[in-house]
Amino acid sequence: MQPVGLYAWGGPGTIRLLRVKYHAPRINEASFMALYDDAALAEAKDKLGVTDMWVTFSWGFSNATEQPDRRFIVERLPNFAQYDIAPHAYVQGLNLVTDEFADQDVFCRDPHGRLLPYSKGRSFTCPNKPAARAVIRQRVEAACVHPFAGVFIDNLMFGLPPFLVRQDYTSFFGCECEHCRAAFRQQYGYALPTGPRRSPQQIADTLDFRARTLTDLCAEMAGITRSAGKVFGVNLYDPYWHTPEFHFGYSLSGLAPHLDYYLIENHALAASNRHLLPLIEADDKPVFVVSYRDGISHDPAYTQADLDAIWSEAAALGYYPALKATEYVTDGVWHALDMSNIHAPRRDACPPRADLPVPSPVPPSGWMDRRTAELGSALYAPALRTALENPLLARAVSRLKLDTRVMRTGRRYGPTP
Ligand SMILES: [Zn+2]
Repeated sequence: MQPVGLYAWGGPGTIRLLRVKYHAPRINEASFMALYDDAALAEAKDKLGVTDMWVTFSWGFSNATEQPDRRFIVERLPNFAQYDIAPHAYVQGLNLVTDEFADQDVFCRDPHGRLLPYSKGRSFTCPNKPAARAVIRQRVEAACVHPFAGVFIDNLMFGLPPFLVRQDYTSFFGCECEHCRAAFRQQYGYALPTGPRRSPQQIADTLDFRARTLTDLCAEMAGITRSAGKVFGVNLYDPYWHTPEFHFGYSLSGLAPHLDYYLIENHALAASNRHLLPLIEADDKPVFVVSYRDGISHDPAYTQADLDAIWSEAAALGYYPALKATEYVTDGVWHALDMSNIHAPRRDACPPRADLPVPSPVPPSGWMDRRTAELGSALYAPALRTALENPLLARAVSRLKLDTRVMRTGRRYGPTP
């Protein structure tokens, strides 16, 4: 039986999160509440051949707030066993709902001590802060108590990505909290630079610092999960489309020993996943790929032709297809996957698709680049927060699909010229 994944956020936590993340969303709540029901799983098995589902366990609310979410999925776990579908407990990674953790020392800081926004209502947490690590550890341990097949951590991102990268200069990225500053000084023998990174050595050390921190975090969480007899995975986004050390913080070679499978989430539904062949052909671990067209909040329900294209490309390239089961927006209403009008996808209907462009070399910085990095690094976090929290600006950002444009842009850096 070939593995087939369903990336399926559901239950009351997902509905609550949508209200935190977006301004006054219209939600088909019943569709999210029915996602793990017997009937939905029967249809997922029958029509799509689903073997693995990533299901909501923790979205990053406080323990008290998300108790109903955890109870919701735990009560439904027997349904999964009945259809021989492996449920993976989805645990939100390095971000939390800001207001729910206002009195705890868990959040990343920018060079001016301000929080780093992850979305409306949520902020990045720092893996170097003991309190932040305790939150994620306790969630992984809590999931391990229940009969999940695995634990999965999403958004393993260490602070904000840089908005400008040059060979010898970047804008601020990552985190500059007091724990990061102390750990960096101890490991590299000099002070963590404030704001931009101003030399190749500062850039290399920042990348190394972030990657080693995330590898250490993953090793700890994988150890807990595997000790409980479960498999461990994280969302890698797309390590061949974006240079992960810069844009997420992790190093694939560092994480790999701690992962039991690879899960890629990208925006390649209208493009191609051929660039992932090095990962797929390495053949040491299963590779699941979830490809969106324009991404969460932009994609209406996929058509049968979309499903045929996903399954066919998966068969042609040798990866395991995974379908997002939630957070479609059709005619302005958020909803989960409706399987009533779909049938078993074809695996022989792969349309021609364009390969990703070859990454361009990173140029050295010019005067304007350095000026932009200096000024922008100070404004980055507050400007981003305003764009997410202000309803009019958030609507404009969404209409222009700025998030999609960023994720679609190839941010994988080639050799230096
Ligand atoms: Zn930090």
